[in-house]
Amino acid sequence: MPGNLLAKYLPSQRQQDTFVMNGGVHHVAAHKMAPSHKGSTATNITTASSLDDPETPSDPAQVKFFPKSESRRSARNWFKRWTRTEKCLLLLCSCLFLLCIVVVIVAFTRDLHYRDQITLATSNKLCTTKSCVSTAAQIMAGMDFTADPCNDFFQYACGQWNRKHVIPEEKATYNQFDKLHDENQIIMRALLEEPIKKEEGEAVMKAKLLYKSCVNTSQIESKGKDPLLEVIQDVGGWPLLDPNWPAEKFELEHVLGKIRANYNGATNSYLFSCFVGADDKNSSVHILQLDQASLGMPSREYYYLKEHVHQKAAYARLIADIAEILGAEGPDVQKQIDDVIHLETLIANATSPSEQRHDTGALYHKMTVRELQAMIPKFNVLKYLREFVLDEITEDEPIVLFATQYVKDVVKIIYEADNRTVANYIVWRLIRDLIPEFSDPFVDAQSQFKLAIQGVNKNEIRWIKCVEYVNFRMGMAVGAMFIKDNFKKESKDTALAMIHDIREAFNELLEENEWMDEKTRQFAKEKANAMVERIGYPDFITDPVQLDAKFDTLVLSDDFLDNNLKILAFQSRKIFSKLRQPVDRENWEQEPVIVNAFYNPNANDIVFPAGILQPSFYSSTFPKSLNYGGIGVVIGHEITHGFDDKGRQYDKEGNIKQWWDEKTIEAFRQRAQCVIDQYSNYKLEQVNEYMNGRITQGENIADNGGLKQSYRAYMKWIEKNGEEPALPGIGLNHHQLFFLNYAQIWCGKMRDEEALRKIRISAHSLGPIRVYGPLSNSKEFAKAFNCTLGSKMNPVKKCSVW
Ligand SMILES: [Zn+2]
Repeated sequence: MPGNLLAKYLPSQRQQDTFVMNGGVHHVAAHKMAPSHKGSTATNITTASSLDDPETPSDPAQVKFFPKSESRRSARNWFKRWTRTEKCLLLLCSCLFLLCIVVVIVAFTRDLHYRDQITLATSNKLCTTKSCVSTAAQIMAGMDFTADPCNDFFQYACGQWNRKHVIPEEKATYNQFDKLHDENQIIMRALLEEPIKKEEGEAVMKAKLLYKSCVNTSQIESKGKDPLLEVIQDVGGWPLLDPNWPAEKFELEHVLGKIRANYNGATNSYLFSCFVGADDKNSSVHILQLDQASLGMPSREYYYLKEHVHQKAAYARLIADIAEILGAEGPDVQKQIDDVIHLETLIANATSPSEQRHDTGALYHKMTVRELQAMIPKFNVLKYLREFVLDEITEDEPIVLFATQYVKDVVKIIYEADNRTVANYIVWRLIRDLIPEFSDPFVDAQSQFKLAIQGVNKNEIRWIKCVEYVNFRMGMAVGAMFIKDNFKKESKDTALAMIHDIREAFNELLEENEWMDEKTRQFAKEKANAMVERIGYPDFITDPVQLDAKFDTLVLSDDFLDNNLKILAFQSRKIFSKLRQPVDRENWEQEPVIVNAFYNPNANDIVFPAGILQPSFYSSTFPKSLNYGGIGVVIGHEITHGFDDKGRQYDKEGNIKQWWDEKTIEAFRQRAQCVIDQYSNYKLEQVNEYMNGRITQGENIADNGGLKQSYRAYMKWIEKNGEEPALPGIGLNHHQLFFLNYAQIWCGKMRDEEALRKIRISAHSLGPIRVYGPLSNSKEFAKAFNCTLGSKMNPVKKCSVW
């Protein structure tokens, strides 16, 4: 179960967690510390002068001006009249006066000198290079200087960014991630559109061919619905289209297994999610795994919560529209659709909500196929598995279940329903997954549903869709092209150095952590030190021979719809062919051109693809404050996943193992509860909905830990290298810029429907919350921006786990 930075379409529900917010015034105040110190010297001088006054004789003659000679004489006579004490006092006063003058002169000279130093220091330390100027301008362009950073830091950091950017009609969100994603898309498009050259290798040629076939819309349109009808025929037909569908011939295991083998790709599947992955309790070997399946709508809540009624209706309408395009007719079509929705609602109810799926160790049940068969006697397990598992398997084959109760319940639900409804449902799910690649009538039919679920009313631009498709399906081949000109080796070196700094900071924080016992602390340190870092891309993609070998059994043509089916079958074959192979610890699966980062608890590795090692996360020309506030926090976030509510269950080898002391677990839980409660109290006003602090706890713990570790690492960097020269015009010091860049990563907005969908399904908090939460828990942030204790961004109660 990797942990990532952003929500992402996950191969399975349990396989991955991904990665997938007073500026000038305070700055000036900080730098005025020195002048005001000197100001106190000036005050002393004034005070000294005024102290003189009472001692000054009150005789008005003193202040009179005498003619030169007369005055000297009269003064002498006048002096003679003085008593000895008065003379002594006068001498003392004169000495004091002289002393004062000396002090004033010295102080003034020193002050001048000091002022010179300050001017010098400031100008010496002001970075006016082209990149500093443009970086500063870019940062300022996003900010709202009228907002109070101690009250609403998201508005302060992102106010203008959000005002200036609109969500494109074909998108549900627009944020910094999308912006960078778009920039990467443009680069990938240019690469994919370049003419095919023989020397670049087979894999790259296949990626280009796939893209070319994808943008050939006239060919796709000319094929119409026929290719889809052929697929439906291949899996035994869709009863909705055929009143004479032979229900008695329906074999659930055969149909489900055949779909899994040919049409579900790497990790998708219906009723059960079945795939091969590293064993969570023995991470060096692969094992068959079975989990609860995905649903046709985003999450289980959409099936029974009142507020999702219109979305459920849109879903039913989508089935009806597609059935109509495919030629369904007759009075009972609607009845059959209602039955499908009813069946899926029962299945949705049988799934466990995400908040109950955090304890992977408790979910994990390893058994043999024989034992599984005994658990669900009506469903022929071997028959099902043999449809898609390439190796010979017997009843002795081990299999891990992550949803034991669900598996029992879903089989019961299925066998209580009639064959027609079950087949209607399974084939509907297949159709639903295939139509996005089909001709316009199918794509258009989906637009109402997309509008209901994500608030989007326009279809994606074709080339963007195709770049995304090719990168998703052949990511390593696209990555091989991308990194040639868009990824520098120095980025890899810098990222590696930062990982080491941040890991060191993590280890230091572990030392200061008073709630851990010594033994657990040592294990934690070992685990952090054993984490394998993966940066940019796996090495094999630079070798055309190795890269080609990954795709050698994939044969493509200029027919996109056919290519799509071939890829799905290819990916399914690939994942099940791993069953008897050892886990390859050298390589990783995440495509290089993706704006995200990952932690895989099962491998104890952290992955930072080339796609995220770019501005505003990272740039070789950025001040370090921005790199630490950007990619640094991402690195800390991924490291912390190794120790969040799920990651902490795995040891340094990536095996689920109890390495924590019971008392320490309890202490951890208390701290995690603080985070759960804090985030559950955040409400997204846009949709008037509270966050689910329970399903987002792992990500929130990672955000908070990542910010703390990266700031500490940056402080250590300053210790070694000194303060960085200021950015021009912005009026913020680098401590403030660290937090500002962190917040600006989350600039962006989303449509209401999408916001609601994310709240329901995402393990990640929404952008603004990812700013409010970690920053309001950070004492360092409060100090950098001088926020008074009790202000919104510096609350008295703070949560801290790592
Ligand atoms: Zn994460």
